[in-house]
Amino acid sequence: MNMKKINVPLEVVCHCRLCDRKIPLVVDFNDYNLFIAGTIKVQNAFPYLLPAERELFLTETCGECWNEIFKEFEDGSDY
Ligand SMILES: [Zn+2]
Repeated sequence: MNMKKINVPLEVVCHCRLCDRKIPLVVDFNDYNLFIAGTIKVQNAFPYLLPAERELFLTETCGECWNEIFKEFEDGSDY
């Protein structure tokens, strides 16, 4: 159950370092401050974001680029 919701919408433009796209995400202003301060982890800060969206904060890699990365792993036998 996700009890958390956005009270103070803040648009953060994330940048994917692989495809160079800019992806705007809307998060809660207070959550963002806590995350920037390092007080809470990204999954606790933004439970309402998709995992792929949280990756943008963590690794600056968008969902599409992750799919490309995982496609390469699928060619290997035991990954
Ligand atoms: Zn990308």
